[in-house]
Amino acid sequence: MSTQTDSNKKDLLRGGQFLVKETKAEDIFTPEDFSDEQKMMRESVQEFVNREVMPKREEFEKKNYDLTKELMEKAGEMGFLGVSVPEEYDGLGMGFVTTMLVVDYISGATGSFSTAFGAHSGIGTLPITLYGNEEQKKKYLPKLATGEWFGAYALTEPGAGSDANSGKTKAVLSEDGKYYSITGQKMWISNAGFCNMMIVFARIEDDKNITGFIVEYDPENPNGISLGEEEKKLGIHSSSTRQVFFNETKVPAENMLSERGNGFKIAMNALNVGRIKLAGACLDAQRRSIDASVKYANDRVQFKTPISQFGAIQSKLAEMATSAYAGESASYRAAKDIEDRISIRQEEGNSHQEAELKGVEEYAIECSILKVAASEDLQNCTDEGIQIFGGMGFSADAPMESAWRDARITRIYEGTNEINRMLCVGMLVKKAMKGHVDLLGPATKVGEELTGIPSFDKPDFSELFAEEKEMVKKLKKVFLMVAGSAVQKFGPQLEDHQQLLLASADILIEIYMAESTILRTEKNVNRFGADTQKEQIAMAKLYLYHAVDIINQKAKEGIVSFAEGDEQRMMLMGLKRFTKYENQPNVVELRKVIADKVIGENKYPF
Ligand SMILES: Cc1cc2nc3c(=O)[nH]c(=O)nc-3n(C[C@H](O)[C@H](O)[C@H](O)COP(=O)(O)OP(=O)(O)OC[C@H]3O[C@@H](n4cnc5c(N)ncnc54)[C@H](O)[C@@H]3O)c2cc1C
Repeated sequence: MSTQTDSNKKDLLRGGQFLVKETKAEDIFTPEDFSDEQKMMRESVQEFVNREVMPKREEFEKKNYDLTKELMEKAGEMGFLGVSVPEEYDGLGMGFVTTMLVVDYISGATGSFSTAFGAHSGIGTLPITLYGNEEQKKKYLPKLATGEWFGAYALTEPGAGSDANSGKTKAVLSEDGKYYSITGQKMWISNAGFCNMMIVFARIEDDKNITGFIVEYDPENPNGISLGEEEKKLGIHSSSTRQVFFNETKVPAENMLSERGNGFKIAMNALNVGRIKLAGACLDAQRRSIDASVKYANDRVQFKTPISQFGAIQSKLAEMATSAYAGESASYRAAKDIEDRISIRQEEGNSHQEAELKGVEEYAIECSILKVAASEDLQNCTDEGIQIFGGMGFSADAPMESAWRDARITRIYEGTNEINRMLCVGMLVKKAMKGHVDLLGPATKVGEELTGIPSFDKPDFSELFAEEKEMVKKLKKVFLMVAGSAVQKFGPQLEDHQQLLLASADILIEIYMAESTILRTEKNVNRFGADTQKEQIAMAKLYLYHAVDIINQKAKEGIVSFAEGDEQRMMLMGLKRFTKYENQPNVVELRKVIADKVIGENKYPF
């Protein structure tokens, strides 16, 4: 159920505007806003994962690709593969939040299944939903939505990874203009071993940009397609990952997706959705790691004491829960913004297809932020999970070992975290230049504040989160100060200063995550009462405390890299002012509050 009314939907912030405009707590969507229909969907996915996937966890470590395919078929029967596919093509036609919710709760048991699911229903199907013409959608979407067919997405090549537009795969039009002949080599293709079709990107003649094609694959009639052996991987052992070779593969001309030369755009837009969904796919994996860790910590006795009673373990559990809570807060906030932007566009007369495309593109910055934050939080969470399990954490007989290995890939695919970090700042700067987000005005004001006399008034921080919200405002000034000065100094050459971009990205990421966590909690305090949100308040404060530290460190690194003398001194003084708490939170106490709840409930309970 939407919490946005039509009138406040109109005030919906544009992508990236969170940095310069205030968001009210009641304007963000939170997991506590799930409609009855969404809750039913969540239960149905959880029930499926608990019944079908969890009991076979060990089997997933034995590279049982048939098992993955079999469970994908079952997921198709349940309708999960077609959640975002419009109803007229046999999908469930559900909104963006519900599709996020499905990838989220599918991810809990194993990264192998989660990857197969994401590669099929996200990047394998989405390019057709977003860019396919009516015939293509009619022909392929019903098969993909029901699991009759499986999809893959073939962009990466041995020589074209992060530089995805540099692929060498060629598509040559036949003399009669009826088909393209595709020749080339693709690498790291998820689902390759059992897919029936692939979205393949190839270059026509010497075009600047690649072109997308829908390529059918039938091993009985391979049409020049052959597969490499299954890759031997660190994790996601039962996710099929192979090279795909095309040797004059004939593809009907009508199977071109969108227009010639539009492939890079298709690839990037599919990846935007892929990125936010990948963030979703880190969430239940994180919750389940916490569940396993706290159960172990409550059972495991050392020094005649359950290890969950030790401050060292409590600290880890509190941090793990906090990062999962922050991930949920930010992911569902952005998912609902996308959903609302899509419906605004539809109300304005866009087709569903155009609206979805533009809606997601609008929040590409948030998609990159979430991909980085959630994948790194999952990695940390599983790492600390291993530590809580001690020696057993290192054993393949306990769940943390595979969870840790499976988590590792999330920092690499869907654009590496380095690329996504640089993208989110780069896109924000571009939006500012196009006038879509006014950074210049606020950045100028920060500049004036730096040279002005600071106020010595004692602020009134008696209300809940008053100081925290003031702190978030100040952290936004830090970003504007550092990134704004860097843009002024380097102009378009900023993209050559990668370390500065990475530091700026970390500031941006922490602001979005901290703000989302505070706003979710504030919204819930306002409607359910502060006494029901004691631990959530502690998590919001704890997350912000770390964010302030990270931002302080990254901003300092940035400032000293490009400013000197008086300018450097002034910016460092500004940084000190913008990261100063009036009342330092007692983080040891905060962690204790959170850990007590997690330990008492013997699971991630939020
Ligand atoms: C298990 C698995 C499944 C995958 N599934 C698919 C799939 O289904 N379909 C598909 O098309 N692809 C898939 N991929 C490919 C994946 O998207 C790429 O591996 C990823 O984009 C990185 O490309 P690369 O491996 O060539 O690394 P490279 O691009 O060579 O990067 C190596 C390192 O250099 C850094 N780097 C690269 N360029 C820059 C730059 N400009 N500035 C700074 N740092 C840079 C990267 O961040 C990274 O740390 C999969 C990969 C794996 C491992």
